[in-house]
Amino acid sequence: MPFTYNIDYSANHVGNESYIKMIADAPPALLHVGHDVPFKSMYGPADQLDCWSRRMLSPQEARDRIGVLREYVSQLHNAGARLVIPYVCSMFIFGDVKKRTGFWEFYDNWEKYQEFGFGSKPKRDPITWCYGKPRPLNVKEFDAGYVYEPCMNDPDWRRFLRTTIAHIAKVGYDGVFSDVNATRCPKACCRRLFSNYLEARYTRKQIRELFGFKSPKDVRMGREGEGLLWVETVRFRGERAASLFAELRNEGRKFRDTFFVLPNLSPFQHVDGVWRRVGCSHVFASWARECPVIMYEEMHQPGLLAEGVVSNFIFQFKYAFAHTARAGTLLYHAQDPSGVHIGIAEAAAGGGGCLIQGHYPSPEVRRKFRAHFSRHPELFADMLPYSFVGLVFFYEQLAWGTRSHLENAFRIAEELTAKHVLFDLIVERNLRLDDLRRYRAIVACDLENLSDAQANDLLEYVKQGGTLVAIGQLGKSDDRGTERPKPILEQIPAESWSEVYPGVGQADYGKGKCIKSDDLGQILSPAPFELFMYTEDEVNDINKVFELIGKSRMQPRRDRTRKLVDQVRKAAGEVAISDCEETLRFNAYTRTQGDAISLMLHAVNYNLPIRARGQSGPVVPATHIPVKLPLPNGWRAGSIRICSPPDEGMVELPFKQRAAVLSFEIPKVDIYSLVEVTAKSGT
Ligand SMILES: [Zn+2]
Repeated sequence: MPFTYNIDYSANHVGNESYIKMIADAPPALLHVGHDVPFKSMYGPADQLDCWSRRMLSPQEARDRIGVLREYVSQLHNAGARLVIPYVCSMFIFGDVKKRTGFWEFYDNWEKYQEFGFGSKPKRDPITWCYGKPRPLNVKEFDAGYVYEPCMNDPDWRRFLRTTIAHIAKVGYDGVFSDVNATRCPKACCRRLFSNYLEARYTRKQIRELFGFKSPKDVRMGREGEGLLWVETVRFRGERAASLFAELRNEGRKFRDTFFVLPNLSPFQHVDGVWRRVGCSHVFASWARECPVIMYEEMHQPGLLAEGVVSNFIFQFKYAFAHTARAGTLLYHAQDPSGVHIGIAEAAAGGGGCLIQGHYPSPEVRRKFRAHFSRHPELFADMLPYSFVGLVFFYEQLAWGTRSHLENAFRIAEELTAKHVLFDLIVERNLRLDDLRRYRAIVACDLENLSDAQANDLLEYVKQGGTLVAIGQLGKSDDRGTERPKPILEQIPAESWSEVYPGVGQADYGKGKCIKSDDLGQILSPAPFELFMYTEDEVNDINKVFELIGKSRMQPRRDRTRKLVDQVRKAAGEVAISDCEETLRFNAYTRTQGDAISLMLHAVNYNLPIRARGQSGPVVPATHIPVKLPLPNGWRAGSIRICSPPDEGMVELPFKQRAAVLSFEIPKVDIYSLVEVTAKSGT
């Protein structure tokens, strides 16, 4: 289910009646506040409700604070926020080890706070929990000094964090937000765990042969470019962060049995931001096992940055869905009514999850959407994606060093969305024959590392009638980095191949087809402006983005190659559902109950000009949109209705069904419309 979500770290909420009233006016389903916590993760007992400390609280003051916060959280619940969570950071300590201020003042007085469950004073000074060089905070008026980074695997640090979480649960919070979650600790705390991790996955002999470690004491973590050692390091750090989230959640569940941890995974709208965080523990696949919702911290709102340049976050939602989790997109620029509207609509179209809205502008939009979601779960709940194409994206391929795998996954995803191809992302966990069979075509680009089982399943999928589009290297090496003696596609006899375009070959294999090209450019060349190819700093600055778009317009126009979708269509049958404008974008889901089927087609109109930070519109409506939707074999449509959430009211649409193809016209989409097809299977 999609839901509404607001985030605000202001320090003036507690005991503030007008704040509670403002929340009650348009309460989000999930309210995320800042440092309104009994003990701050950066300091322990600290005064006031911002992220700093001016002085340490006495035990009596800490007791009073707990009472005040319990009342406050209960007020927020009564105001209508279904879930309320505060902030912790999994990896920062503030203070000065030499002056014994900040966290060290608490450490030196640890025993005085025994009653709060912090246990015995850790024997090792907190400086030994940390790695790397402390950075000056430059906030003189506060008791800050430096920021130190404790290792999230340090047992004393974890014990301290667990106690802060226990207090958060005890005052009534429903969960907690965990920030930053990035560690590259090379110290013994991690080396020992890494050695255990390797031993659980490999025999001693394999550890010697694959990594060159003669004994456990030789084990060290990998660095970028070190092949399997780096891949295992990336996995290990992801698993360790997940284990921390599980530990914190379980601590919270001692006091609230549905307590959850919602972690920040940083941005995913640009290759730079993803690439620079590889190896810092941001592994969605690991986190998703412990956390139902994961935050992406982004900047822009969805909409149209310039002609042909759509800002959207559908990749993030699909990536989350592929791991059976949901994404929350923190979009700082989604502020005005149309920006909030399209942000929430995109989350609903992405299969659930949420727009994480900074502060509370445009309350009427949030209020209406929340009411709509709660009145109409039948439109959103328990749905599975309905898609014709699977696009493979393996995060681990980045650990193998293949940056182009991500660049091209973004490029292909944008093309499929723009051309109205319903598609899902295929990630490591679901590249299996049973999952592949759901798709008419599978597209993989620069997927250099595949296990034997994955390679076999891809070929078997083709044999059984699927279409595989393989661009660049496919399974050149196995999942341990060993180069295969012979490329996977050489199993298809050489004489089967014929050239369909220069540089693009196609072959029949079994009942299916394979399309291959050494270079994506032969079949899909880059768009004149691709936001995801710029640096994190550039993308984050909207004026810079407009400037870069302007510059790209000064370049001579080159013809673009966009044959990918046509080629897939020729080989696999129709995969696109409309030929309408590229700014209108579709996602579809189904739910089956007995022989009754609901198919929900979400249409989001990105023709919403983005004018500045927090300013967009007016939307340019899409009208008279022709849709030809292939239904699964044997389905017979009974009715089609359309609504435009959050507005109420369903309208019947006329339709025709010829064989399996359902044809209808959507009269108009402003920002968001939802088409419900009711069908029966069987006759
Ligand atoms: Zn460590």
